[in-house]
Amino acid sequence: MPILRDFFIALSENQFLNKAAQKYGLKLGAQSVVAGTNIPEVIESIKELNKHGISCTVDVLGEFVNDRAEAVKAKDYIIETIEAIHENGVDAHISIKPSQLGLKIDFDFCYENVMEIVGTAHKYNMHVNFDQETYDLLEPTFKLMEKVSETYDNVGTVIQAYFFKAKEYAEKYKNYRLRIVKGAYKESPNVAYQDKNDIDLNFIEIIEYSLLNCKFTSIATHDHNVINHVKQFVKDHNIPNDRFEFQMLYGFRKDMQLQLAKEGYNFCTYVPFGSDWYGYFMRRLAERPQNIQLVTKQVFNK
Ligand code: FAD
Repeated sequence: MPILRDFFIALSENQFLNKAAQKYGLKLGAQSVVAGTNIPEVIESIKELNKHGISCTVDVLGEFVNDRAEAVKAKDYIIETIEAIHENGVDAHISIKPSQLGLKIDFDFCYENVMEIVGTAHKYNMHVNFDQETYDLLEPTFKLMEKVSETYDNVGTVIQAYFFKAKEYAEKYKNYRLRIVKGAYKESPNVAYQDKNDIDLNFIEIIEYSLLNCKFTSIATHDHNVINHVKQFVKDHNIPNDRFEFQMLYGFRKDMQLQLAKEGYNFCTYVPFGSDWYGYFMRRLAERPQNIQLVTKQVFNK
């Protein structure tokens, strides 16, 4: 369904609709995949997941910020979230989107914001993941992480398997904690695989490489075929459970999340929260046409 995918990706990038959506709270079914609009709500969601032995990576929603004041506000709110995670003693770390913190405005400005966040998290021994976004931000995000890691060691990032150079990046950054994903944005055929099978093959190859060579691997997928493959691969290669974890997004395949945790695998749920939910939610609709059920269910339940 590439046309539907392109349609939702285009919607996800529409700034006007994004601003409009922010005014109206969680709508269109987004509340089932976004864990609240404020810090107390997200802390409750984390506590609930922790009860089942599931750890969390928390994302303060927001991206592609072009205004310095807005980026500073986002930085302050992320720091407030880190403090709340610490104060509540919940099992969670942070995922940040560099474009929310000014990477599209100015590298050094973004670096200052990110240093404050990572420094605060470092005090509490908390990991900070640098989410990867669109291709134009790929190299700058790696560069940002490298520069921050000259001071702090609690950082890691994401490898998007749809890029031709993904394996190279996994090799280059193997000493960091890496999250391996298929990739969520629309990228040019000059830099990224377009065919699902090609992406899946590269995804498996990079996961295997990372499991064998990297410090710690987060396998972030809802794809049961990949998960079953990983289970067999770690068994065959005697890779201990403390070298990897599975990750899924909040609200998706809940039964499988609980089951994997119950089976004794480390499991981490990506928990987004906040009012800037629109772009995130549209990308989830783009990924899987069936996710449109989230919207229709809410409309018909009313
Ligand atoms: P898909 O290719 O979407 O699905 C494969 C198959 O799995 C489907 O055909 C279906 O059989 C099954 N399946 C999938 N979902 C469901 C479901 N809900 N219910 C039932 N069956 C299902 N992308 C980035 O570009 N940058 C990031 O930093 C990033 N971080 C992420 C963090 C996490 C924790 C996760 C889970 C994803 C992240 N992504 C990120 C998104 C990722 O790149 C993919 O776009 C997204 O995960 C969809 O791919 P998939 O591997 O889940 O499987």
